[in-house]
Amino acid sequence: MTRKINTRIIKLKKYYSLINHKLIFKNETINRYKKSLNLSEKKSKNLKDLKDDISAIKNCDLKKFANNLVFSDGNPNSKIMIIGEAPGANEDKEGLPFVGRAGILLDKMLASIKLDRTKVYISNVVNFRPPENRKPSENEISRYLPFLLRHIEIINPKIILLLGSTALNALIGRDTVISKARGKWYKKTIGNANPFVIASFHPAFLMRQPDQKKLAWIDLKMIRTKISELDLNP
Ligand code: URA
Repeated sequence: MTRKINTRIIKLKKYYSLINHKLIFKNETINRYKKSLNLSEKKSKNLKDLKDDISAIKNCDLKKFANNLVFSDGNPNSKIMIIGEAPGANEDKEGLPFVGRAGILLDKMLASIKLDRTKVYISNVVNFRPPENRKPSENEISRYLPFLLRHIEIINPKIILLLGSTALNALIGRDTVISKARGKWYKKTIGNANPFVIASFHPAFLMRQPDQKKLAWIDLKMIRTKISELDLNP
């Protein structure tokens, strides 16, 4: 593994010198938010502890077959949290949520209401890719739910967008379906967090059923209005 990384670094350095690039190559992970973010020590520690606890989960079929823990992307100081279902193949490879085709559509949806990943925080109901991209089982959702609730408490969002039925059922309950539950505000108390919650269609569903995008657009506009009402100024 180390040898593979070293070979890659050597190749990259060579490439950088060949193209005479002025940037200095650094073998460090990129923290896109380091400069602009003022993450409190407490929040940063809580997030790290949560990630460590998820990573330490035992006897989990999701973790067993996954390559990476997919924890979150975006701005941990954001007041807008987006929750999807589960990582897919691309997310599993990169260790980041919504980086595949559904992620591209999600980014477009966010852009339509002037949001992007520096202004929202994104996670999933479960943090490891289910084999063959199956839906996470009830049992798996129940095991990961305490982690998700802790995640929400740490982020303390004012608005939560649930993407798709898995996120809807995990947080709002099983007695409703996404087509009925979407486009409505719910008020939820999760520890100290007291967010407005709205559900909408999952981008992967919208790719299969593009005519439903008009309803998703209504939901997105509701979020835009709520952002103004709450004066969130993301
Ligand atoms: N679908 C999800 O629900 N989450 C991801 O991270 C990617 C695709």
